[in-house]
Order: sequence, then structure tokens, then C-alpha cells
Amino acid sequence: MVIPDAASHRSRHEAIVNAIEKAVRGVDDRLQRFHRSAVSKVKPDGDLLQMGSHGASEFGAWYEERRRNPPLDQPAFETLVALHEALLNHLALLAERAWKSDKVPVEEYDALLEKVSAFHDHAQRLAKAFQAAISDIDPLTGAQTRQVMQRDLKREIVRARRSGSPACIALADIDHFKAINDTYGHGVGDRVLASVSTALIDNLRPYDSVYRYGGEEFLICLPDTGPEEARRVLDRVRARIAKEEFGADDGRTVELTVSFGLTMLNPRRPIPELVERADKALYTAKQEGRNRVVVWRAEKPAPNAGGG
Ligand code: GH3
Ligand code: MG
Ligand code: MG
Repeated sequence: MVIPDAASHRSRHEAIVNAIEKAVRGVDDRLQRFHRSAVSKVKPDGDLLQMGSHGASEFGAWYEERRRNPPLDQPAFETLVALHEALLNHLALLAERAWKSDKVPVEEYDALLEKVSAFHDHAQRLAKAFQAAISDIDPLTGAQTRQVMQRDLKREIVRARRSGSPACIALADIDHFKAINDTYGHGVGDRVLASVSTALIDNLRPYDSVYRYGGEEFLICLPDTGPEEARRVLDRVRARIAKEEFGADDGRTVELTVSFGLTMLNPRRPIPELVERADKALYTAKQEGRNRVVVWRAEKPAPNAGGG
């Protein structure tokens, strides 16, 4: 398989934040040049006078190329673009007037400033939302961070308690990963780790979540899922990963397997205890030969030696 961009999610989000920030700087630059020409009565630059210049702007071109794909295909972006468009058009009118006539009516100028401020506010809100999404994603693997996991699991427990519907968590650990590092080097190890994370995310259901729990361990949360179904879902993912060939950049391929420890999210038990259960099941999976899904079972009480 082709190694995907390890943190494609994250880099895409970063590019969006950059584009928004650049658009804001672009608007500020135009505004400054408008003021310069209005105050000193010098001819405004061509782009300032042009109606419909949003489409020709860097931000306009950037958006046009991506507007049909997520996450840009959402109303919040349409709003930002509409604000940008309206602002540049208004600016073009006023630049023309300031250049050609003596005076721009103050209401017109105030209306422009209002548009600028609405654009700034909306851009800032959007950039902030994407910034927050970035810090929730582990940069190497593209999985969600452990911090997000804590927050989500608490929420999931409350939900399970309220609704009474079952949920499961699992710990997934790459088998003999140390040997992969030793054989191919840490760089390939990193890329393989990222690919496994992507394989987990892509092969689970959209409402399941994958968090990077530690080095080469992932915690998976399966909401609204009983243990039987969870086991089926995870076993399908396990089989897919075992079949896949992960490419090293020198043309060699790496085959690997993953072990899973699964447990129900019992809403009456504290989260660390539930993770501990998944970990125990994972340990059993390793002991029984790896490349398998093991469901946690309560240990049977030790037989009473005294016999009564
Ligand atoms: P097991 O089947 O029992 O899980 O064997 P293992 O070799 O996977 O387990 P072990 O705990 O002995 O080793 C885990 C290895 O994972 C050791 C560590 O160097 C490697 N590792 C952890 N995090 C990373 C990482 O971010 N990148 C790379 N390349 N390796 C990592
Ligand atoms: Mg491990
Ligand atoms: Mg391991």
C-alpha cells in the first residue's frame, strides 16, 4: 500500500489556518493602500479599483479549488467568502470615489469598516476552530491525542449511563514493533506506525474513535456497540491489517499484525479500571500468540483452599 501522509488531517487543517490568516493580511494590506491613496490623493492600485476582485485574489483562488471538498464545503466558509467578496467590492467603490471626487460620505466609510470588522471576526473564529482541531490530533499518526481521549471517554460513560446502551473500548498494540524498528530503522518505523493508525481509522466505522494511547498502542472507542459486535468489527480490521503490505521507502515491504484487548465500557466502573481491563485482555492476546482480538473476562475467584 502507498504510505499515506502520516498526519494528512493535521497538515490540511494547518493549511486552512494559514490560508485564513493570509486572507486577513491581504485585506489589511488593501485597506492600508486604500487609506494611503485616499489621504494623499494618489491613484489607487489597479486591484483596489477592480470590482469582483475576490475571484482574482489569492484567497479566492485557494477557496475555489477546494470548495467542493470537506472541510471547506461548509456554510461557515461560504460566509467567510461572502464577507470577503462584499468587502473587496465595497472597497473598490470607495477607492474610486475617493480618487475621483472630493469626498466619500461618512456612512459609506463606516459601512466599509463594519464589513472589515465582520470579516475579521468571522475569520478569527474559523481559524480558532481549526487551530483547536489541530491540537487534538497527534502529529505523527493523525490519531486523536490522549487528552481528547480522556474528555471523550468521560462523555461516553455519561452517555452509556443515561441511555443504557452498551459501548466498548479496545487497546490495539502492534506486534513485534521493536523488530520492525530494528530491521528497517526508526524512520520507516514511524511511517509504518502512521500507516497502521490510518488503517485503523479508515477501516473502523465513522462513529468509532482512534486515539494514540502510547508509543505503538492505540485506544479505540466503539460507541453504541455490544462486545459481540465490537469483536466482529475489530477482527475485520485486524484481518485487513494482517493482509496489507506496508511499504518502506526503499521499495521493501513490511508485513505486520496487531493484537487487540477489548472490554465493555461499564458505566459503573472508573475509566482507569476499564482501560486496565482492556490492557489485561491485550496481554492475554499477546500470550496466546498475537494477531487476535481477546475480550476481557473477570477472573474467577480462586477456589477456596480451606473447603469451608
Ligand atoms: P509486542 O508484540 O509484545 O507488542 O512487541 P513489541 O516489540 O511491539 O513491544 P515492545 O514494547 O517491546 O516495543 C515497542 C516498540 O515500539 C519499542 C519502541 O521503540 C517502539 N516505538 C514506540 N513508539 C514509537 C514511535 O513513535 N516510533 C517508532 N519508530 N517506534 C516506536
Ligand atoms: Mg506496546
Ligand atoms: Mg507492540
